[in-house]
Amino acid sequence: MAQKLNFFPTPYPDECFYSIFCRYYVRSGISSPMAATKLFFGCDRSLLVSTVYFPRKLERLDYWVNPDSGITGRQLICEHTAYPYHSISYVNDIYQQMEEAIQDGIPENGIENLIRRMVGKCKYVSAGQYLRYCPECAKEDIKKYGETYWHRLPQLPGVKICPKHGCSVKNSSAPFEGMRVRIYPASYILRQMEDRTGCQKLQYK
Ligand SMILES: [Zn+2]
Repeated sequence: MAQKLNFFPTPYPDECFYSIFCRYYVRSGISSPMAATKLFFGCDRSLLVSTVYFPRKLERLDYWVNPDSGITGRQLICEHTAYPYHSISYVNDIYQQMEEAIQDGIPENGIENLIRRMVGKCKYVSAGQYLRYCPECAKEDIKKYGETYWHRLPQLPGVKICPKHGCSVKNSSAPFEGMRVRIYPASYILRQMEDRTGCQKLQYK
C-alpha cells in the first residue's frame, strides 16, 4: 500500500482501539462517518463495534503509520485491545497464531481471518451496552492531554470500579448499537455529561 493515511493519532495509555479511530475522525475534519471509516479501515462501519475490543484491519499498519513512528502491531494488540485479558480463554490455535503475530510482526496478508474468529467467540457485546468511563480518569485526561478518550479497562465485562480512583465506572450516552451509524468520540460524549459525573464510590453491602 504505497499511499499513507495523512495522520494517525498517537495512542494514549490504555486507550481502546476504537478511541484511536474516534480521535482520527475528529481531527481529520471529515464530516461523514462513512467516509472516515472507509478511509481508515477500508471498509464499512459494521466492524466499528468490534474495534472496542479487537485490533481490526492490522494489515493496514503500513498505511496508518511510518515504521519510524514506533507504533507496532504488537503495541496495538497488547496495549489497546482486550486481547491480553482474554487470551487465556481462546482455543489453542487462535492463541498460538495471535502470539506469533505479536512476536514476529503482522504478516503481509494480515490476521483479519484470525480476528474474525476471535470476534465470533466474543460473548461480551450485549444489547443495551454503552461505552463506559471513570469520571476521575476523564478529568485527569483533560488536565494532562487537553482531551479525554475511551479507556480500555472500563469496557471489559465485570469491571465495575476504576482501580486507580475507586470510582464506579459509568455508562456514557454512547450505545454500542449506534456505532453502525454514528462515531462517538469521548471528547464530545463526555463533555456533554460533564456536570453530572462526579466520582461515586461503590458501596458494598
Ligand atoms: Zn479512574
